[in-house]
This record gives sequence, structure tokens and C-alpha cells, in this order.
Amino acid sequence: MASLSAPRTAFIQGQGDDTTSNDVAYSVCSFKAADTMIQLCESPKPKPDPKRLSFGSEFTDHMLLIEWSSEGGWEKPRIQPFGNLSLHPACSALHYAVQLFEGMKAYRGKDNKVRLFRPLLNMKRMLKSAHRACLPLFDGAEFLECIRKLVEVDQDWVPQSDSASLYIRPTFIGTEPSLGVKKSSRALLFAILSPVGSYFSTGGKSVSLWADCKYIRAWKGGTGDCKMGGNYGASICAQYEAMDYGCQQVLWLYGDDHQITEVGTMNVFLYWMNENGEEELATPPLDGIILPGITRQSILELTRKWGEFKVSERYLTMADLRLALEENRVKEMFGSGTACVVSPVGRILYQDENLQIPCEGNCSSLVSRLQKELTDIQYGRTDSDWAFFV
Ligand SMILES: *Cc1c(COP(=O)(O)O)cnc(C)c1O
Repeated sequence: MASLSAPRTAFIQGQGDDTTSNDVAYSVCSFKAADTMIQLCESPKPKPDPKRLSFGSEFTDHMLLIEWSSEGGWEKPRIQPFGNLSLHPACSALHYAVQLFEGMKAYRGKDNKVRLFRPLLNMKRMLKSAHRACLPLFDGAEFLECIRKLVEVDQDWVPQSDSASLYIRPTFIGTEPSLGVKKSSRALLFAILSPVGSYFSTGGKSVSLWADCKYIRAWKGGTGDCKMGGNYGASICAQYEAMDYGCQQVLWLYGDDHQITEVGTMNVFLYWMNENGEEELATPPLDGIILPGITRQSILELTRKWGEFKVSERYLTMADLRLALEENRVKEMFGSGTACVVSPVGRILYQDENLQIPCEGNCSSLVSRLQKELTDIQYGRTDSDWAFFV
């Protein structure tokens, strides 16, 4: 037990914003990417028109599967034709939401090379979620290499476009075939790929938000800082209520002081003149109720490097925002995530009042600058060590 718990502890201590540490590759029993068995499909599907893709509804020709059991450990990774899974009806993912996932993208550059964006950070986050779900650990670098192989096999599915991309959905489920609420003795790690269109063909404009504490996305000691399926299934009801109020997404609040935490499935940023009259870009701290977004981390690192204004991880409440709006101190507010990179907020419905957020669609805005800098890296228009070549 000691030898198992030691690397786990090391991993948990190393989960901050430190990108230099090598904590995805600590020594656990893992599968090896070099053992991957590849079975190609016989008749590839026609590729969809990238201009008419809805998110995550079409999938490529192949998928990656890796099975684990407590007796046998990890099996060899398999890349095989895309198809349905066969699951025991008592499977723990279905009954107790023993499930987690990641979201990342492959981008095709003008140079025709395919790149991922900081994918080791996704692996690190996935291991953190696996630890929380009591699912077995693995070597993140080996899993990334398996994903790289899968994308290589389906590389023709990476759209030839400077705004579309191939969405990658690594998933990990408990397949324990019994109804006891306990650690899974079986698990399935897999990845599927879905071509996705430009977010901005549909949603370039600012979003409207419903802010209400009727529903809570995450709480201290919960799982809000892990990408576990249960968090999202439970949020759908709030999303529909937001739409009933004429808003597009939920602004998730927390606590009696109505802290601003996240927007839909994005992290949130406020660019403003703060209480002390300082120009500041602020986002809530990673205190356990915030999903540690890779876009969030990248925005913090980029803007700190610019050194043009104060960059803070700090609490922001609705009272702070409302006062700043009254005093014309708000420059911009936006969400961040892999799906859209950055998404400006235009309006917030809060306590029967519509709060208008300034600066939507202003092309000199911080949102536009971040959108450009990040997509330039993703599509290889700027060289960066954040690019990972397939
Ligand atoms: C995935 C996710 C984000 C964004 O994370 P990225 O790594 O930037 O894509 C933010 N909030 C929630 C709740 C998420 O699930």
C-alpha cells in the first residue's frame, strides 16, 4: 500500500499551475503506447462539410480502447473501428456516475501539420479526476501517445480550415459489474473523435447569462474541480431554466455573498478597474469549486507575460460587479474554454435586473486579442512550445 500511495501523494501535491513538473509520468503500472494494436475499418465514412457541423454529433472511423481490471491490470491499447460499447447493465458508470472525461482539440495549420494544444495538461487533469473517482492511474504521456496515434489514423478528419477542428473526447468509466458502491474492479479508458465547426459561425456574439443561486454547480469538498460526468448531467436543468428566462447560459454563483464562479462550462474573467483603481484582469482562484481550465491557465500565463495590467486569481462577487458597473469600471467580462477559446458576456439577468456588460464586439478588445493570440498558437500561425505535433 505504501508504494501505491506515495506517488499518488506526489501527484496531488504537484497539481497546481506548474507546467514544468513531470507529474503525469510518475511510476505507476501503466499500459504502453508501443503495444497498441491497430485494426483499421474497411469502409471509411464520407467526411462532413465543416461548415455544417453541430457539436459532437458526428464521429470519425476509429476509436481507442484500453481495458483495466484489478486482477489483470492494464490490457494492451486497441485502435479499432468506431462502434457501440457492450456494457454490463450493473456497470458502475451507469449507476453511480463513476465517469470522467477530457475535452481537447486537434487543429490543422496552413502548413498542413496537425497540432494539439498543451495536451499534457489534459492528461494531468484527467489523472486528478481518476484519483477522485477511485479509478486506476496510468502514465499520462503514454495515453497521450495513444491519442496521438488515433488522431494520426483518422488525420483526414481534421478539417482543412482555420476555424474548424477535430474535438477529442478521452473518457474513463467504471465498468464494475455489480451494484455495490465501491471502487471499480474494472474500468475502460477510451477516446473518440468528432469534427467540429467554427464556434464563431454560430456564436461569435456575446452571451447572455442567468445568475441565480437556485442551482449550485460545485461546492467545497465536491467534484466541481474535476471533469466528472455527474457535474454536467446535473447542470442541464439549470441551463434550460436559463433559457426559459431568455438567457443563453448560467452564471454559476456560490455562497451567501454570491461569488461569481463559472459561466456555463467555461471559466470566467473580469477585466476592470478594481476597487483600488488598478486595471486588473481577474478570475476566481482554484479553491476546489473551479474547474482548472487549460484556456484559463494559458490566459493567465499570457497576460502575466505581457505585464500590461494586474492579473489576479481572486474572489469576485455580484455586489463587486454591480458596483463596478454603476461606477463604469467594467471593461469586459468573458468566459474561456476549449470550445470557443474566449466568449464575451453581454448581459446578466440577476435579481430581476438586466446588467449590461460593456465592450461587446469591440475589435480592439482584450477578448479579440486573446482570441487571436491563442488561435494563432493552436493553428500554428505563431511558433510556440504549447504546440504538440501529431
Ligand atoms: C472544461 C471546462 C472548462 C474549460 O476548460 P478548458 O481546459 O479551458 O477547456 C471550464 N469550466 C468547466 C466547468 C469545464 O468543464
